[in-house]
Amino acid sequence: MIVVMKKGASKEEIEHMVRRVEQLGLKAHPIYGTERTVIAAIGSKRDEHRQSLESGPGVAEVVPILAPYKVASIEVKPERTVVRVGPLWLGNCHLGIIAGPCSVENAEQTLCTARAVKAAGATALRGGAFKPRTSPYSFQGLKEEGLKILAAARDETGLPVVTEVMSSEDVALVARYADVLQIGARNMQNYRLLEEAGAEGKPVLLKRGPSATLDELLLAAEYVLNAGNQNVVLCERGIRTFESHTRFTLPLASVPWLHERTHLPVVVDPSHGTGHTALVPRMAAAAVAAGADGLMLEVHPDPETALSDGYQSLNFRQFEETMDLVRRVADAVGKKIDRC
Ligand code: PEP
Ligand code: MN
Repeated sequence: MIVVMKKGASKEEIEHMVRRVEQLGLKAHPIYGTERTVIAAIGSKRDEHRQSLESGPGVAEVVPILAPYKVASIEVKPERTVVRVGPLWLGNCHLGIIAGPCSVENAEQTLCTARAVKAAGATALRGGAFKPRTSPYSFQGLKEEGLKILAAARDETGLPVVTEVMSSEDVALVARYADVLQIGARNMQNYRLLEEAGAEGKPVLLKRGPSATLDELLLAAEYVLNAGNQNVVLCERGIRTFESHTRFTLPLASVPWLHERTHLPVVVDPSHGTGHTALVPRMAAAAVAAGADGLMLEVHPDPETALSDGYQSLNFRQFEETMDLVRRVADAVGKKIDRC
C-alpha cells in the first residue's frame, strides 16, 4: 500500500511514518516527489495495518497498490524517473544515446568507436566484456581486460560506460569499471543477479527477456528497486515470435504501454531487435516517435570483421545518418539529446 503524505508534511513526520511502517514488519520505500512524498509499504501483511497508518502525523491517506509491481508502479510515483549518469540522461524529456560495439575486441577498436559515436552525439558508450553467447565456441569477451579498455575509453572521451554483468559473482568487478550495469535478456529473471546488482547501487539497465511478458519485466525491475536502487532503466530489445524475417520481433507498443504503468525510463535496442543493419535507422527513429527515453545501438568500425553481431551493427557513417534522423524525430516529439 502507499502512505500518501500531506502536501508540506515535515521531514520529521515522514521519518516517523517510515519508522512506523518498518515497525509493522513492512519494507518502507519513501519516494520524494516535487508535489508530495509517498511511502510505499511493501510486505505480505500490509492490509491489516492500513487503518493504524492512516492515523499517523502528516498522513493524507493510505491506498492499496493495485499493480503487482509496487515500487515500479506509476501509482506510487506519478512523476517520471530521470536516470542520470554524467552526460547520459534518460527519462522525461531526455533522450539518451548509448552506442558502441557489441563486444570489446581490443583497445583500438573500442577507442576509435568511442570517439566516433561521441562526435556524432552519443551520450554513453556500450560494449560487452562479458558476452552471453548462444554457442560456447563463440567469442566470450575479454572479461576484465575488456572492462579496462572501456574505462580507458571513458577517461578519454567522458562517455559513461554501459556494460553487461552476467553473474552475481561478477557484480563487484564489473561495477569497479562500469557506470551502468547492464543485465542482459538471458538473465532478466536471474533473481540473485538482480538483487546483487540492485544492492551494488550503480544504475541498472535491464533488458527484456525474448519470451518474457512486460509484467514479468516490471517484476524483475522490482527486484532491483526492492534492493534499494531507484535507478533502473528498462530496455525493449525484441521478443521471439513465429516471424523469422528479423532476428527478433521489436514491439514498439511496449514503450507507451510501459509509460502508462511505470515511471521508469524505457530504452529501445533496435540492433538486437531487428538483427539487420539496414533496419536499424528507421526502427531507431520509430522508437523515439513511440516515446522511448533512450536508444541502445551497436556501432563498429568495420562491421564485416566484428567478432559478434556485425550483421546488425552500424558503421560510423551509418551511425551519423541514424543520429540525423533520430534528432529530427526527437525534435518533433519534444525530446532532447544531452551533450557530452
Ligand atoms: C547486448 O546488448 O550485448 C546483448 C547481449 O543483448 P541482449 O541481452 O539483449 O541479447
Ligand atoms: Mn550484440
